[in-house]
Amino acid sequence: MSTMEPVLAIDIGGSKLAAALVGKDGAVWRRAETPTPRAAAEVVGDALVDLSARVSNGEQPTAVGIACAGPLDIAAGTVSPVNISAWRDFPVVELLRSAVPGVAVTLVGDAIAAALGEHWRGSGQGSQAMLGIVVSTGIGGGLVLNGEPYLGPTGNAGHIGHVSIDPDGPTCPCGAHGCVEVYASGPAMVRWALEQGWTGTDARQLTGAARSGDPVAVAAFDRGARALARGILATSLLCDLDRAVIGGGVAKAGDLLLAPLRRHIAEGATFAFVRRISVHTTALDRDSGLIGAARFTHLALARS
Ligand SMILES: [Zn+2]
Repeated sequence: MSTMEPVLAIDIGGSKLAAALVGKDGAVWRRAETPTPRAAAEVVGDALVDLSARVSNGEQPTAVGIACAGPLDIAAGTVSPVNISAWRDFPVVELLRSAVPGVAVTLVGDAIAAALGEHWRGSGQGSQAMLGIVVSTGIGGGLVLNGEPYLGPTGNAGHIGHVSIDPDGPTCPCGAHGCVEVYASGPAMVRWALEQGWTGTDARQLTGAARSGDPVAVAAFDRGARALARGILATSLLCDLDRAVIGGGVAKAGDLLLAPLRRHIAEGATFAFVRRISVHTTALDRDSGLIGAARFTHLALARS
């Protein structure tokens, strides 16, 4: 790979499709995004290919790195994102191989890509054992251990949102009870606040209310932070984490989320090695997945 040639990075989510040319140093050269079409599988695929062509603008990338919402089948190169109902076992790798012939195409989960991006160029730099968490409509996660993303044999490692912190807790769409996601996702915090008499509509309004001191909104963040803290502590006990990096829409609340999160971690950390963890918000914001997808191709190509 030459030092100049970029990777075409793609980030596929339920609400938007994003693509960018990412330089070898992680700089985002050209970026574009479009709302994910609520349409047939081929229409969503065409939108992705159009977006990629717009970003490439005739330039040949050295590789294509795809980050996609799960679940994925890495070996088959297919994806079945929960929030893109038209795509079930959709051959996204094959689609990009046809659209950009002659270069390697890699596929990784979006939360793992986001974690890897933060580790490479964001708030995770220098970490030896990092957990990245994306808190938005749902909650995703990814581990970066010793500088390498930990995928697991099926590519699905890092599902922090579905770690149960209370077997008697509310039912989660996954079928389990008391998952971190049923307390700490944006919609979960909003739902709980509404039950307590708050009258807004979405997570952005809840953030505004918490910022102006609304006690129910503040309590909703505290409750979400407590659940996140329990998930982080459990992961820390297993993986000896030194860093957690929080991204996604809800992380825009900044210290409204981080302050109670740090307090609950400090209160719940029983062992000295668990107390070492530092918690930060994303430094790359919406680009962490794109930058991580590009980094993933570098690591894959270096290995092959
Ligand atoms: Zn669950």
